[in-house]
Amino acid sequence: MSIVRVALAIPLRRLFDYSVPQGATLPVIGSRVKVPFAKGEKVGLVVEHPSSSDVAEDKLKPFSESLDQTPLLPDSLFNLLNWASSYYHHSLGDVISQALPALLRKGEPARPKAIEAWRISETAMPINLDDYKRAPKQGVVLASLQQHSPLTEQQCKQQDLSRSAIKTLHDKGIIEKITIHPQAQLWASEDTNKQAPLQLNAEQAIAVAAINQHLGQFQAFLIEGITGSGKTEVYLNVIAEALARGTQALVLVPEIGLTPQTLARFSERFKVPVFAIHSGLNDNERLSAWLKAKRGEAGIIIGTRSAVFTPLAKPGVIIIDEEHDSSFKQQDSFRYHARDLAIVRGRMEKIPVVMGSATPSLESLQNALSGRYAHLSLKQRAGNALQAEQQLLDIRQQPLNSGLSPALIKAMRQELKAGRQVMLFLNRRGYAPALLCHECGHVCECERCEAYFTYHQQPRHLACHHCGSQKAVPQQCSQCGSTNLVTTGLGTEQLEEALLSIFPDYQVARIDRDSTRRKGSLEQLLDDIHQHRYQILLGTQMLAKGHHFPNVTLVALLDIDHALFCSDFRAPERLAQLYVQVAGRAGRANLLGKVILQSHHPEHELLQDLINNGYQHFARFALNERRDTELPPFSFQALFRFESVDGNAVQELSQQVYQLAQPLQQAGTWVFPPSPAPQARRAGKFRMQLLIQAEQRAPLHQLVHQLLPQLEAQKLSRKVRWSLDIDPYDM
Ligand code: ADP
Ligand code: ZN
Ligand code: ZN
Repeated sequence: MSIVRVALAIPLRRLFDYSVPQGATLPVIGSRVKVPFAKGEKVGLVVEHPSSSDVAEDKLKPFSESLDQTPLLPDSLFNLLNWASSYYHHSLGDVISQALPALLRKGEPARPKAIEAWRISETAMPINLDDYKRAPKQGVVLASLQQHSPLTEQQCKQQDLSRSAIKTLHDKGIIEKITIHPQAQLWASEDTNKQAPLQLNAEQAIAVAAINQHLGQFQAFLIEGITGSGKTEVYLNVIAEALARGTQALVLVPEIGLTPQTLARFSERFKVPVFAIHSGLNDNERLSAWLKAKRGEAGIIIGTRSAVFTPLAKPGVIIIDEEHDSSFKQQDSFRYHARDLAIVRGRMEKIPVVMGSATPSLESLQNALSGRYAHLSLKQRAGNALQAEQQLLDIRQQPLNSGLSPALIKAMRQELKAGRQVMLFLNRRGYAPALLCHECGHVCECERCEAYFTYHQQPRHLACHHCGSQKAVPQQCSQCGSTNLVTTGLGTEQLEEALLSIFPDYQVARIDRDSTRRKGSLEQLLDDIHQHRYQILLGTQMLAKGHHFPNVTLVALLDIDHALFCSDFRAPERLAQLYVQVAGRAGRANLLGKVILQSHHPEHELLQDLINNGYQHFARFALNERRDTELPPFSFQALFRFESVDGNAVQELSQQVYQLAQPLQQAGTWVFPPSPAPQARRAGKFRMQLLIQAEQRAPLHQLVHQLLPQLEAQKLSRKVRWSLDIDPYDM
């Protein structure tokens, strides 16, 4: 009897066996089948042809339909997904499903959709346009079809052809509808450049040569290069060589980095088709881009995190820009890191993987310093742009005006008077982070979270930034009844208000999630900033990445001290990365930028190191600290999270897992007692976590591998929502 073992998109970490129905042929491994599951049907991927099943033969259900004649994914990608499923201890079916476009998940055919198009009916030929003088719209349609036939619906729309004229002509039988199957459009590798490349400087040339030498084999590269040092130019040169060899390039960028400017830079340079894979695509567009990559029609694919799963007919190189960016880590369900998977994929496909950043993650830096990755650096700013001047401003005992010190206000005034723009960072949206009773000190707290409500003024309401719940601003204190409620702390709305009164002659642009909620409003604001309609720019982290503001000559970070005392050991690294990214927004070739950091702890070792010695030095210093404290990348972690509305159940299950894990410890692995998560209560749920750490990866994974079935066997594991995060990021 023939059996297929199928991976289904469900969280359960197991596969399901089905028999091959009478008369059907055995579906190949890697093809999709439709199978009966629970009370309905599901689409799954055949992953094995087992010789026998644990399910008795007469209990085995036949699959209902075979959907593909050939494997859906190239072998290397299939292997990558298998690898990811076992490394992240996540359901293979769910991993596969997250790697597929939605239409394929639903069982749609894996080929481009046939399109309908219009042409002139043979019986109506020849057409005499003079006959249509009294029906000019029909005349236009026919004239267009005489020029180019057939015309798709979309082309008709683009040419503004009248729909009713088309209908009339169709009713009269003068034109007819046909179905066309899009042909593969292959590009020629002989002539792929549109623009001549720039003359590379010495460092760039060395980097390009080093990488190109490894095309056709695996090698990871880390390009450590300050913003504007020409990293993208290096990528473009490597891609040019990959294309010339007839191979494709996959470029991963942070979520915020996939801007029209980025895309334009790639498509203006090369003649090959460039496809972007991002959340703005509809299902059809996504499938189409995916198929074009798979069939080799796309020369370059640019995408965010999940694009790492794009199949490539002829993989040539993978590039990861801003490799340190946290958006490469998926933070729910299948918690993978796209950068790490890209490296694994590069090894499987035997192609180089190029990572670039001005502020490399400590993980990648350590790999580069230890020699696992080839380390390239770009130290000069291309085009001779100057580095920004940096200043750490001691604000202890300074009179602050809405968070602004007198020295900062003075510096701002100076730049504004000179006709320049200034930019301020405050990573807290809303008016104030808390509303407080002036009589009794009670603070308005979200009922569902362990968090204060943020006070918003535009429009006036309280909002919890953890669970999103909102409510009207109360008239009275819920504890003592006093009406004397005051805000405390500083948010972007309030800072905007203060700036308008301190600098009445200038316009303030505020960029945060609230001010950019409406579609297109961010683009509009950015555009107005570039037109110099605003002189003062104020924003959260949103403003820090991706955009360049050549007229900004002063950048200030207002409130960064919390990062110095945060429980997350990665907080200083993130602060340093933010700081350098922000500094890179300022100035241009002939305008010297200045960056001011306000702090109550100017003597702090990390800040001092960052300011005086730069990120490179800071990062090496921070790595030493990680080594001394045996934190990643000098150890490896797995984090279990538990959450439920039932606090006792959460406590109990995390204790059970702790008890189960302890006996599995070997030398060099540690199971830490469960502890409350950083947000111990969120959206009404109690949250605990349990950390396992090890000196080596193998024993960590072995422990997790043994522990998981035991955890899954616990009754409470069905009541409490739990998850496993390998190499966790936010703790
Ligand atoms: P990064 O990606 O490191 O931020 P880019 O590649 O975007 O740097 O380069 C920054 C600017 O310098 C861009 O405007 C780019 O066109 C220019 N540039 C890069 N390399 C060169 C070069 N070799 N000669 C002249 N200009 C260059
Ligand atoms: Zn009160
Ligand atoms: Zn809340």
